Amino acid sequence: MTASEPMWQKEMKHLVMDADTLSQQLDIPRTAFIASDFPLKVAAPFLSRIRPRDIHDPLLKQIMPVDAELHKDPRYTADALDERPRNLSPGLIRKYHGRALLIVTGTCPLHCRYCFRRQFAYNENRPSRNQWRSVLNELRHDKNLREIIFSGGDPLSAPDRYLSWLANMVADIPQVERLRIHTRFPVAIPQRVTSELLGWLSCLSLPVVMVLHINHSNEIDQSVITALHKLRHGGVTLLNQAVLLRDVNDNLTAQQNLCERLFAAGVLPYYLHFPDRVQGTTHFSLSVRRARRLYRQMLNHLPGYLVPRLVMEKPGAHAKTLLMPLNE
Ligand code: SF4
Repeated sequence: MTASEPMWQKEMKHLVMDADTLSQQLDIPRTAFIASDFPLKVAAPFLSRIRPRDIHDPLLKQIMPVDAELHKDPRYTADALDERPRNLSPGLIRKYHGRALLIVTGTCPLHCRYCFRRQFAYNENRPSRNQWRSVLNELRHDKNLREIIFSGGDPLSAPDRYLSWLANMVADIPQVERLRIHTRFPVAIPQRVTSELLGWLSCLSLPVVMVLHINHSNEIDQSVITALHKLRHGGVTLLNQAVLLRDVNDNLTAQQNLCERLFAAGVLPYYLHFPDRVQGTTHFSLSVRRARRLYRQMLNHLPGYLVPRLVMEKPGAHAKTLLMPLNE
């Protein structure tokens, strides 16, 4: 490590990526884990919020490869959202009108077992700077374009100098009005919110919306609250999208606690996603009926502004599908 290396990069070099270490650190039997093509990966700050000796911990369930992943269901596929045909050139996905999604990096600070991109072709999506230039030049011709989304992987895995370069190129497209960044870093490694990150975000000529991905209130400790506070004071709009996961957050108490804790940390709940049908994730699934019943309870127990929209992403659809309109 060099003297000037930021703490978050140090954390990225020491991610826990093997079951032996994880089982020792959490005092959980090694036999509970399986080997997977989508390897175990978790950053230490996230790991520190998992309760030792608790195989049912809601954070552990999100990162632990278990034998249920081997269960095959023909309705579950590798590309559940049919992104491949929309991956128009390296780094670029076009799904929705007026928006373009950039795969900034394939790297993440943790591997979420339910991830819909767990089998994404990241090796075909590593554009060079010149390729980014031509992608963005191409996007200039889309006069309907309003928003660019940094996605991945987790885009904040990339160094700030690189992100700042790409973001300023985006800001140079006259019709683009917003930059959106999807990230799990503020909960995975809160130290990622550095003065360097805040510096380029606040200098950007576009408003920045950060869509966090937090599924359970236990993910939010004081270090996360501090990082979110810095982002908010840096002028970033903070929203959250959670995934509804069986045995992780599929009950009223978990959802209520999450929404209230998010709001206390300055984040608005935005989406609650019905889980995508991705191979290896059947153990997280629940019925639409059950999701709707839970959502009705949320509507009855939370003020409207704290209730995220319950949505499902259907492959090929031009927008997310509302599973329960608020007035139903
Ligand atoms: S951080 Fe995001 S992209 Fe990475 S594994 Fe988790 S959900 Fe998937």
